[in-house]
Amino acid sequence: MLALDIGGTKIAAAMLDEGAIVMRRQVAMPGSAEAFGRALAELTADMPAPERVAVASTGFVQEGRIHAVNQNIISFWNGFALRDFLAARFACPIVILNDAQAAAWAEYQACETPPGNLLYLTLSTGVGGGLVIGGRLQVGACGLAGHIGHATVSLPSPAGRVPCGCGRTGCLETLASGTAIAREATRVFGEPLDSREVFARAATDRRAERILAHAARAVAEAIANCVMLLDVDHVVIGGSVGLAPGMVERIQAALMEEPVLVRVAITKAALGPDSGLIGAAQWAQAFEGRVEMEARAHAACAAHTGQADAGGHSAPVHAKK
Ligand SMILES: [Zn+2]
Repeated sequence: MLALDIGGTKIAAAMLDEGAIVMRRQVAMPGSAEAFGRALAELTADMPAPERVAVASTGFVQEGRIHAVNQNIISFWNGFALRDFLAARFACPIVILNDAQAAAWAEYQACETPPGNLLYLTLSTGVGGGLVIGGRLQVGACGLAGHIGHATVSLPSPAGRVPCGCGRTGCLETLASGTAIAREATRVFGEPLDSREVFARAATDRRAERILAHAARAVAEAIANCVMLLDVDHVVIGGSVGLAPGMVERIQAALMEEPVLVRVAITKAALGPDSGLIGAAQWAQAFEGRVEMEARAHAACAAHTGQADAGGHSAPVHAKK
């Protein structure tokens, strides 16, 4: 099986044999569909022809198309016909799942004692999430389930409430993503800094530590909301920012400031950066008829259609049934 993990900043490709990764490669995410095609061809050039392709992708998936929630992350991605694109290259079944949903599924399988309800939260270029409720991965009616990065929190950013690329204001993603941490650090330090540099400075510079602690408080608030809404009893944190030194501990500390009722167990992603790849593969493996199931589900769903407005912002719109 060929598994692909397509994120805001990278594409990872892996060959899996009986669920184990036997070959893995990664390149930076290109900025156009043409360059994406070239990158994919390079990544898979000398890999054997797969029996199945499983994809974990940023954005939400409908009828084999990828729709970006945050339009600022990958502009060419909105409405991208990924299934057709892959079908032209691979003559085998293709399964596409949101990346955080895929990771949630893999992390749920990796739990020694399966939790009742699991929230997977990835802090990376953006903020994503996936839910496994009562043992079932929640894809949602339209593929959106778990997009906690675009749920708002009441905690303001130190620079004020920030408009999000999804069209809302004050989303968790505007406070706790790598992009948000870098933006706030650049404002505070007066020089361009990325989130990696903020983590490096946190041990010796209280301004850097405050930025990370603030992001962690926003995450804790979002977790508390999720616990109240869905009775989640286990939260798994992943993503390059989520797995950076001390971030899970900061989130755990911030959740201790919330009422006892919402203080659920928080752990690091057991599968690290591979949970999306592995989860997509497990999902594809478990559902032989997945493609047809997805097609039926999407036919029944009021479609989200990307409609570019005058400002170039393309917002998902609920079409009439
Ligand atoms: Zn948003």
